[in-house]
Amino acid sequence: MDIRECLKNMTLEEKVLLLEGADKGFTNPVKRLGIPRILLADGPHGVRVEKGTEPDGDAPYTMTGEMEETTAFPCEAAMAATWDAGLLEKIGRCMGEECRALGVGVLLGPGVNGKRSPLGGRNFEYFSEDPYLSGKLAAALIRGVQSQGVGTCLKHYALNDQESRRTSVNVHIDERAMWEIYLKPFEIAIREAAPFSVMAAYNKVDGHYMSENEEMLAHILRERLGFPGAVVSDWGAVHDKVSAVKAGLSLQMPGPGRDAGRVIKAVEDGELTEAEIDRRAGEVLRLVKKVTEARGKKQAEPDWQEHHRAAVQTAAEGMVLLKNEDGILPLKQAGTLAVLGELAEKPCFVGGGSSSLTPRQMDMPLECLGGEYTVSYAKGYAANRTTEELLNQAVRTAGTADTVLLFAGVSTSESLDRDTILLPREQIRLVRAAAAVNPNIVLVTQCGSAVDYSEAEKYVKAILHVWIPGEGFGAALAAILSGRISPCGKLAETFPVCLENTPAYPDFPGVKDEVYYREGLLTGYRFYDTRRILPRYPFGFGLSYTTFALENLRLSSHRICSREELTVSVDVKNTGSMAGKEVVQLYIRDEKSAFFRPEKELKEFAKVKLEPGETKTVVLKLTEDAFSYYVPHLGRFAVESGSFAVLAGTSSRDICLEDTVEVISEDEVRLPLGMTDSFKDFLEDDRYTVYARQFLAALRVDESHMFYQMLLGVNLIQMQELLAIMGIDEATAGRMTENLINRQSEF
Ligand code: BGC
Repeated sequence: MDIRECLKNMTLEEKVLLLEGADKGFTNPVKRLGIPRILLADGPHGVRVEKGTEPDGDAPYTMTGEMEETTAFPCEAAMAATWDAGLLEKIGRCMGEECRALGVGVLLGPGVNGKRSPLGGRNFEYFSEDPYLSGKLAAALIRGVQSQGVGTCLKHYALNDQESRRTSVNVHIDERAMWEIYLKPFEIAIREAAPFSVMAAYNKVDGHYMSENEEMLAHILRERLGFPGAVVSDWGAVHDKVSAVKAGLSLQMPGPGRDAGRVIKAVEDGELTEAEIDRRAGEVLRLVKKVTEARGKKQAEPDWQEHHRAAVQTAAEGMVLLKNEDGILPLKQAGTLAVLGELAEKPCFVGGGSSSLTPRQMDMPLECLGGEYTVSYAKGYAANRTTEELLNQAVRTAGTADTVLLFAGVSTSESLDRDTILLPREQIRLVRAAAAVNPNIVLVTQCGSAVDYSEAEKYVKAILHVWIPGEGFGAALAAILSGRISPCGKLAETFPVCLENTPAYPDFPGVKDEVYYREGLLTGYRFYDTRRILPRYPFGFGLSYTTFALENLRLSSHRICSREELTVSVDVKNTGSMAGKEVVQLYIRDEKSAFFRPEKELKEFAKVKLEPGETKTVVLKLTEDAFSYYVPHLGRFAVESGSFAVLAGTSSRDICLEDTVEVISEDEVRLPLGMTDSFKDFLEDDRYTVYARQFLAALRVDESHMFYQMLLGVNLIQMQELLAIMGIDEATAGRMTENLINRQSEF
C-alpha cells in the first residue's frame, strides 16, 4: 500500500471516514481501494475480544458479545513487581500471538499513567510510581507485542491519573512534574519501542480536553516526543472533532461518529485544510498498513500452554513477600493448612472494566493447594460480609490446623477510585478471630494497588501481596508457598503507613472538575525519602527465602563528561541456602543543584538469578538521561555539572553501596542574574566575575575600599541609584549596570 498514492485516489469523504471508527472496535475500510479495516481491542493484561471476530468480514464489533477465552496475565502492577523487562517482553510476544490468531490489529495498552494516590481506581492497570521503571517495562511489553506484527496503543496520554470525574477533570500541574514524572514513561516507551499508536485520554489539561489539546498533542507528543504514529481517542473522548483534527488526533473511537459532515464543511469553509486531513488520514493508513502486513503471513495456533506457563511465572515472580516472621514461609510439607476467606474460592484474578478477561484456563488456589497439602477450607466471609456462623466455622477450621492461609483483598475497577486503602473491616474481623486460636497466620492479599496493613500486620506472621494475579494464580501461589520458587517480587509502588501520609492526600481527586498536582515532583518514594516519612513498605522492597549481599560497587570513572556513559558494576551474592532472584536498584542523588531535586531517583535496575553461594556481577550503564532534570526556563532536560551520588540498593530505603561521580556538562541550568540580584551574586557567579571585576576597576575601587563593602550588599537597582547620586551612572546613561547584566566589557 503506497500511502501517498492512496491519499491521492481517495475522496475527501473517504478520508474523513478514515478518521473515525466504523463501530466499537473496527476502523472504516475503503473497499473501493482495497484498504481493509483493522480491529483495536483491549488490553492491557491479555486480549479481550469478542468471539468470532472476522477482520476480513463485514460483521460489526459490538463489544457486547461473548468474549474469546484468552490468557489472563497478571495486571500491570503485578508485572511491574517482577522488575523483569525480559519477562514482560515475553508476555508481550504471547499477547501479540493471541492478537494475530484472533484478528486483533492493535492491542489497547500498555498503560503508563501515574500513581499519584493509592486510591487511583486504575492503578492496577499501570506499572509503577516511578517513571523510569514504568517506561522501561512498557517499552519491553510493546516490543514483545509488536514483534508479532500487531500494534500497541500506549495509553492514556496524559495525566489521566484518577477515575473520579475522569471525563471532565481539568489537571493543573507544573511543567517540571509533568515532564519528569508523567511524560517520562511515554517518552521512554516512544523512544525505545515505537508504539504504533498512542491513546489520547478523557481528561483536560490546562482547560483543554486531551483529544483537542494542541499543546499536548501537536507540540509535546508529536514535536517534542517525536511520536509520528496514529493518535487514537479514548472511547468517547472527542468533544470537538474539528479542533481534534487540528490538534493532531488521527482516529476518533468508537464509531460511527456524527461529525463527518461538520469536518467536510470545515474544509469547505477553510477552517481546516485538506492537507491537515491528509496528514491525519495518512497516520491512520500507515497504522492499517503496518498491521495488515503481518495479517497475510501464516499464523500458527498460539501455544496456549506456554502462555499459561508465562502467566504463572509472572504471577509468582510478581508476588511480594512483605513479612515473614519466624520463617513461617515456605510452608512445611507435612503440616495441615486451614484456608480461610471467600477469595480463595472466588479469586479476584482480573480487574474490572475494559481490562477484564475470560481466561482459557484458571488455576484455582484451593485446587492447587489441595494437590500439595492437607487443606480444610472455611469461607469466613461472603461478598465481604461475615456472620457469626461464618466466623465460628472459620475459627473451628483455623484452630485445628498447623498454619492458616487467610485470603483477603479488594477488587479494583476502571471508572472508580477507591475511598480507602484499608482492608475491608469484615476481613480484619476474620483475621482477629483466626489469630485468637492460631498464631501461625499467612495473609494473602489480592489487590491491584497499595494497602494499609497496619492493623492486619499485628495479627499475622506473613504477608504475601499478590496483586491481581491473573489465571495462573493458584499454581503461582502454590509454588511460592511451598518454596519451589523463592519470592522475588519487589514493590513498584510505596505502601504507606496510612492514607493521610500519602503525597497527594489533600489534592486527590481534586474539587469538582479541578485537580491541582500540588505535590509536584514529590510523588511516591521521591516524597517519602525527601520528606523523611517512613513508609510501611518502601518502594523496591520485597523479601526472599534466601539472603543476598551487594558488594564491590565500581564506577568506570569518577569524572565524566555528560555525554559519556558511566558503567556501574555491583557484585551480588546469594548468601542463603536457596536459589533466588535479587533486583539491584541504582539510584542517583544530585549532591547540589540550582533547582530542587528529590532525595534520590531510580535510574537503572537489573534482576539476577543466583544459586546458593553464587556471586554474579551486574553491569549497569548510566547515560546523560540519568543525571538530567527538566529545567523550565530552558524548556528542556539538562545536566547540571557537579557531583552525583551513585547508590546501589535493594529498595529505596536499603542503600547498601555508595560512590560519587563528578559530571561535567556544557548545559547552563542557572538562571541569568538580573537587576534584583546583589553585586555579591555577580562577583561570585563565574559567568559574571570578570565583568564584575572590570566594573569595580572602572569605579576605581578594590576590596579594601569601604565602597566595595557597601556594594556587596546591594542589588543592581540600588546600585544604579547609588551611582546616579554619584553622577557616574548618569554620565554613562545606565550603561554600567546594563553591561554587567549583559556581560559586556565596556565600563
Ligand atoms: C478505557 C480504555 C479502553 C477503551 C476501550 C475506555 O473506557 O479508558 O482504556 O481501552 O475504553 O475499551
